[in-house]
Amino acid sequence: MKELLKQLPSVDELLKDHRTKQWLESYPRVLVLEAVRTAIDARRKAIFKSAETKTGRKIDDALFSTEGVLNHAELILTELSEPSLQPVINATGVIVHTNLGRSILSEKAIQRVVEVSRGYSNLEYDIPAGERGKRHVHIEGILTRLTGVEAATAVNNNAAAVLLCLNTLACGKEVIVSRGELVEIGGSFRVPDVMERSNATLREVGTTNKTHLKDYEKAITGNTGLILKVHTSNYKIVGFTKEVHPDELARLGEKHGLPVMWDLGSGSFIDLTTYGAGNEPTVQQAVDSGVDVLTFSGDKLLGGPQAGMILGKKKYLDPIRSNPLARALRLDKMTLAALDGTLGQYLDMGKAVHDIPTLWMLTQPLEEIERKARLIADGLANISTGNLTVTMQDDTSQSGGGALPTGNFPTKTVCIRHSTLSANQIEMRLRTGKPHIISRIKEGMVIFDPRTLNDEEIGKIVEAVKTILQH
Ligand SMILES: *Cc1c(COP(=O)(O)O)cnc(C)c1O
Repeated sequence: MKELLKQLPSVDELLKDHRTKQWLESYPRVLVLEAVRTAIDARRKAIFKSAETKTGRKIDDALFSTEGVLNHAELILTELSEPSLQPVINATGVIVHTNLGRSILSEKAIQRVVEVSRGYSNLEYDIPAGERGKRHVHIEGILTRLTGVEAATAVNNNAAAVLLCLNTLACGKEVIVSRGELVEIGGSFRVPDVMERSNATLREVGTTNKTHLKDYEKAITGNTGLILKVHTSNYKIVGFTKEVHPDELARLGEKHGLPVMWDLGSGSFIDLTTYGAGNEPTVQQAVDSGVDVLTFSGDKLLGGPQAGMILGKKKYLDPIRSNPLARALRLDKMTLAALDGTLGQYLDMGKAVHDIPTLWMLTQPLEEIERKARLIADGLANISTGNLTVTMQDDTSQSGGGALPTGNFPTKTVCIRHSTLSANQIEMRLRTGKPHIISRIKEGMVIFDPRTLNDEEIGKIVEAVKTILQH
């Protein structure tokens, strides 16, 4: 064992090698050192392990040569110098994919981010007055124009919006909410938990499938702070159900002098029913329902950056905006710029549907998806060596992201099966290769749903499959 350990080159020796010298010209010294140390360590551990288990297995000398250690170090160095946050190609067809960054930004939104972050801005500066301004003004005007709402602001995400609103409107008081709406979203957002942290007490009414107006009314006491409606984004109770319409709740709140809040979840500005996307209320309709405060996400159906939109009556928005928590939950200038860029596009709804990627992916005609599917299938047929079976299938895509409960959209997928490589092997190689391609597996086949792909990405997928089959 000692012999073997002695045989290992030292860090100092390796740093004198011409290869490490070259690395030092393009990589930070700390990373080169870490790569070299990790490579040596791996060998040291292997030596100890083989001594422990007394396998007597002969250790491959080549691995212990300077060259062997440096080859390994180079691999480690390449990995270390990659950023952890990486772009991926989303071939799953899930549009608002929470694990893959939800909505992708429109060109306009990206342009605004670049413009605003490259230099100083009037983030909190009132240019005409020459004095301190407020950051929410940058989106309030456009939201008022789009929805007719009195006042608006935005915070870090919708969970933060709910937290902030409850903390402002119902701190130390009770919040009346239907049992059928106590939703869990993506495992980490539970309405009851957020409410608890806001220092409001949950007062559940009704049953899971039925809640009547009188259930809400009976629960109102002197200690009620708020009536809350939550959109059940990721599931739908079907069958024998009853929920109370928001405008009925708005009237109830008015009668008792209580604010009514509606957590819309996705919050779409366009009516998606014409695209077969369930009967989601639009934000404009939600404002018209008369509820006092609305919240929704910026990166679900809105198609913008991560943000939590808060719209409502000025009387309630003023205390929400001046709550000290608002400071802790506020948006940074890059997000505000992206949000402003996205919202501005909604002034022309017809164009918005084309130019905001989330909306386009959701509403593109099936013929367009078919065109892209054929592009993939033809590309793969050209490289096929006979071991690959390529088929096109009718399927459905999901809007995802807890965005639409009943939204399933007809799509055309491309499915591949290989005679020697399993679907799992192909999926894994596509995922871990460069670029990273995230696909689905179904019935022993790897599936690409072109709904979430553009032509350039399709070319890359064909290339990647080609590379995999050649190795
Ligand atoms: C998605 C969702 C949230 C959480 O929104 P984030 O922007 O992810 O924080 C809250 N409420 C509802 C109803 C949702 O659908």
